[in-house]
Amino acid sequence: MAATPRIALVTGANKGIGLEIARQLAQAGVSVIIGTRNPGRASAAVAELSFAGLQVRSISLDLNDHATIAAAAETIGAENGRLDILVNNAGIVDAEDGPPTSGSPDAARRIMDTNFVGTLAVTQAMMPLLRQSAAARIVNLSSSLGSLAVNGDPASPYYSARLIGYNASKAALNMLTVQLAEELRDTPHVINSVSPGYVRTDLTGQNGFMTPEEGAKLPFQYALLGNDAVSGRFVEASGETPW
Ligand code: NAP
Repeated sequence: MAATPRIALVTGANKGIGLEIARQLAQAGVSVIIGTRNPGRASAAVAELSFAGLQVRSISLDLNDHATIAAAAETIGAENGRLDILVNNAGIVDAEDGPPTSGSPDAARRIMDTNFVGTLAVTQAMMPLLRQSAAARIVNLSSSLGSLAVNGDPASPYYSARLIGYNASKAALNMLTVQLAEELRDTPHVINSVSPGYVRTDLTGQNGFMTPEEGAKLPFQYALLGNDAVSGRFVEASGETPW
C-alpha cells in the first residue's frame, strides 16, 4: 500500500520563492496547499503547477485578515485532519521603510503586521493540525537582514541594507523560531529559520544573485528534514547565520 503523502501549506506561494517551494515539494510527492490572498493569482499558480502534472490546491489566506487564517485552518482540518509541513513564506517589504532615522514608523507597523504578527497568527492557527503530524516541520522564511550580529558588522555584505522595519520583522520572526522550538522541545516537531539568499523576485525588484528556484532549495530541504532533525536554528546556504 502506498504511503499517505505528507501535507504541506506554503503561505504566499503564488509567486517568487514560495511558488518554487510549492513546486519542489509537489515534485517530491508532497500534497501541497498554496496559501494566497488573491483568487486570480491562486488560480494562475495552481494552473501552472497542475499543467506540469503536480498535485496542488489553493486556499485563501491573507496574513492581515485573521478570519481567513482561522477559516484555512478549519478547512485543512476538515479535509486532512493534520498538517505535516508549514512553510511561513509570505512576506513584504515597504517602499517607505528605511534607516532608523528616516524609515516610516507606519511602514514598520505594516511590515511587522504581515511578516511577524501574521506569521505568528498562521502558526498558532495551524499548531493543532501540526501536532497531529507524526513529525511536523515548520520553516520560517527569514533573512540574513534579520541577524542582529550582521546589522552591527561592517564587514558583512548585508551591513548597508538598513531597513529598520523589514530587518526588525525578520529578527522578530527569529524570536518565534527560538521560542516555539523551546515549546516543542521533547516533541517530534521542529521549527527553523531559513535564509534563502539574495533572490530575484518582486520583493527585491528582481535584483539578486539567485533564481527563485535556487532560493527555494534550502527552505525545501528544511521542510523535509528527516529523523533527528535540528530545531531552533537560523541557517543560510553556507551554514548557520549568527543571531
Ligand atoms: P515575492 O515574490 O514578493 O512573494 C511574496 C509572496 O508573499 C507573494 O505571494 C505575496 O502575495 C505574499 N504575501 C504578501 N503579503 C501577504 C499577505 N498579507 N497575505 C498572504 N500572502 C502575502 O517575495 P519573495 O522574494 O519570494 O519572498 C518570499 C519570502 O522570502 C518573504 O518572507 C521574504 O521576506 C523572504 N526573503 C526573500 C529574499 C529575497 O532575496 N527575495 C531574501 C530573504 C528572505 P501577493 O502576490 O498577493 O502580493
